[in-house]
Amino acid sequence: MSDSPVWHPFTQHGLREPIPLVTHAEGAALYTSDGRRIVDAISSWWVTTHGHANPRIMAAIAEQAGKLDQIIFAGWTHQPAEDLARGLTAIMPPDLTRVFLSDSGSTSVECALKMALGYWLDRGEDRHRILVLEHGYHGDTIGAMSVGARGVYNRAYAPLLFDVGTIPFPAAGHEQTALDALEAACAEHPAAFIVEPLLLGAGGMHIYAPHILAEMRRICARHDVLFIADEVMTGWGRTGTLLACEQAGVVPDILCLSKGLTGGAIPLAVTMATEAIYQAHYGTDRARMFFHSSSYTANPIACAAANANLAIWRDEPVLKRIADLAARQASRLAALSEHPRIANARQIGTITAVELRGEDGYLSQIGPRLLAFFGERDLLLRPLGNTVYVMPPYCIDDPDLDRIYAAIAEACDAIGH
Ligand code: PLP
Repeated sequence: MSDSPVWHPFTQHGLREPIPLVTHAEGAALYTSDGRRIVDAISSWWVTTHGHANPRIMAAIAEQAGKLDQIIFAGWTHQPAEDLARGLTAIMPPDLTRVFLSDSGSTSVECALKMALGYWLDRGEDRHRILVLEHGYHGDTIGAMSVGARGVYNRAYAPLLFDVGTIPFPAAGHEQTALDALEAACAEHPAAFIVEPLLLGAGGMHIYAPHILAEMRRICARHDVLFIADEVMTGWGRTGTLLACEQAGVVPDILCLSKGLTGGAIPLAVTMATEAIYQAHYGTDRARMFFHSSSYTANPIACAAANANLAIWRDEPVLKRIADLAARQASRLAALSEHPRIANARQIGTITAVELRGEDGYLSQIGPRLLAFFGERDLLLRPLGNTVYVMPPYCIDDPDLDRIYAAIAEACDAIGH
């Protein structure tokens, strides 16, 4: 057993020791204390969109740290937050006029749910039920878990999770079943429907078509059900466009963003909302304000990092970089998918996923074996059960991409059924 007192998330310590110690990182490379160079094939839990230690983001952090480190945000403000809110409202759908800051994807979801309930309270309607999509994942706080898939990872807390209405995943050939279920559930006046647009990430990298997302949005609008888009993972170009919603022409009532918001350098999240939702909390009645904060809400250094990310999007050909990476991945995925062991090869934007035939399920033995196999080959590649996905930083080069796809092919040969 390790003598470190550190307790790691989603890590079975008994199966994963020693834990690699990363000393520094740059671009798509991580360097460990034992002298290894590891290729970061998943952008360190999907966050480092522009690569590690992006010079513009690092400089913004350093500059801001020399000016203002932290300030209470309840009733106070600072320039980085003001700039960020204006910058976001300029590039996000115009209906989303208000920006609430928090610290992680999970809290952005908690805020979205609380905003939705506050909106209905203000309207004098008794609406509390939340609709969710099967296989969804929205974070690990109690509210975020409640709207996510139930399984072994939240079994201990199940009695505390609130009840939701689950809409079946619109798998190919079953889209109408999902839409009909949503229509029926919306007719019962729920408060909101929360979805990961186009791609259900942690729930298994399941992709569905833009026209289904558009139809879901229309159904919610028809029944006056708030539509919450959780773009914590899909946002910032991951699916090929700044937001996945764009591909469906969808504008949500509430939008959750985090991960790539700061280019993955430092924790920050936003929940953007329509004017109507903001107005439902506005006035002189102190019982009606939005009751959510944390000590570090809108940390100025994190906001400065997010402003640097916005500047990169403004000044650099990020969408072209993303399109190039998508194409470079597509050719490698096509070659990999010829392997007899590979099933369900799929791609959306910069994300590819394959399943290894043989075993499936989050707890299947193949998961830890694959993780160890990739680790021995100096790759950070962390499968979801038998699903291996690649989600690299946009700056990854061809030799590193080749190493990733070669290792997956090798795993198909080496790891038994
Ligand atoms: N929502 C989605 C779609 C996510 O993929 C995640 C994290 O992977 C979250 C929310 C939670 O974000 P965080 O881990 O920053 O709390």
